[in-house]
Amino acid sequence: MEWFVAQGRTLPWRTSRGVRRDPWQTLVSEVMSQQTRLDVVVPRFLEWMRQFPTPENLANASEQEVLAAWAGLGYYSRARNLFKAAQEVSQKGWPLDCAGFLDLAGVGPYTASALASLCCGERVAMVDGNVLRVLARFHALGQDLRSGTGKRLLERLAADWVSKGDAGEVNEATMELGALVCLPRQPRCEVCPLSSACRACALGEVEQFPAKKTKTETVVVNREVVVVVQGDRVFLRPSRADELLTGLSVPPDLCEAPQIANPRDCGTVRHAITHHKVLWTIYHETVPQSFCPPPTWFGVTKNDLPKEVVSSLVRKALEKAGVWPS
Ligand code: SF4
Repeated sequence: MEWFVAQGRTLPWRTSRGVRRDPWQTLVSEVMSQQTRLDVVVPRFLEWMRQFPTPENLANASEQEVLAAWAGLGYYSRARNLFKAAQEVSQKGWPLDCAGFLDLAGVGPYTASALASLCCGERVAMVDGNVLRVLARFHALGQDLRSGTGKRLLERLAADWVSKGDAGEVNEATMELGALVCLPRQPRCEVCPLSSACRACALGEVEQFPAKKTKTETVVVNREVVVVVQGDRVFLRPSRADELLTGLSVPPDLCEAPQIANPRDCGTVRHAITHHKVLWTIYHETVPQSFCPPPTWFGVTKNDLPKEVVSSLVRKALEKAGVWPS
């Protein structure tokens, strides 16, 4: 807190230590900052407050005036929600806690925590990207903090963090530390007030935290498939459990039909399924009525293919073989 009082930036919605924030200024500044850089927000916030110094002023404006005042900030649903929230507040007054703030139009858990902690002193943590980074480094949290268990751990640590002082002040100071000192790259540990207790700093591995999301390796799947046509029918089979598209109807592998000696090469189709890069080489063969297919194959008339085939990869293969109905 000493660091924040000395080093925190002066922003028009911030108050001196010990003075509760105004909920209207807090709501407007939080909503404006959601998708907009701080250097753009500051002059627009001051203009907005001159035009609409209270929620009642905004509630009494027309929607056109509200949208005109928001012009250039983009994401106009933010302005519409602010307008609705101002109407709700001017009718019912300000909520008194986090749950109540959540009922205001356009207010999600983060903004509700901001309003509750900064304006009412409720002990709730605000966890944005800056806070996540500070906590992940301070506690050297190696797990994926966006997973279910990672999120729960982070929430517990953040709740513990704010329980050590005035929640609003601790939230704001931690965010500021993340924005000015505990930077994503090249954090300034040498001037950080937490450095003597920070585990990542002690390990000398600050940039290893928070853990990066592990990238799933791409798997290439090559298959040679054959589109076997008998009269008006095309043979398909159910995809096996060890193949992609499990349970869906697919053309068989070329090797499943040794009687097919000289199929026509129709080229390849490419497709991406999750982390699989699929490359199918497509063959085509017309077989006589005497051809006896393996028991897992079944015939589908060309006109019925769109009803039977669900996968766009299979459709591409059948189009390549020239059997998909036009
Ligand atoms: S010591 Fe370094 S890594 Fe730890 S909180 Fe401070 S800036 Fe972040």
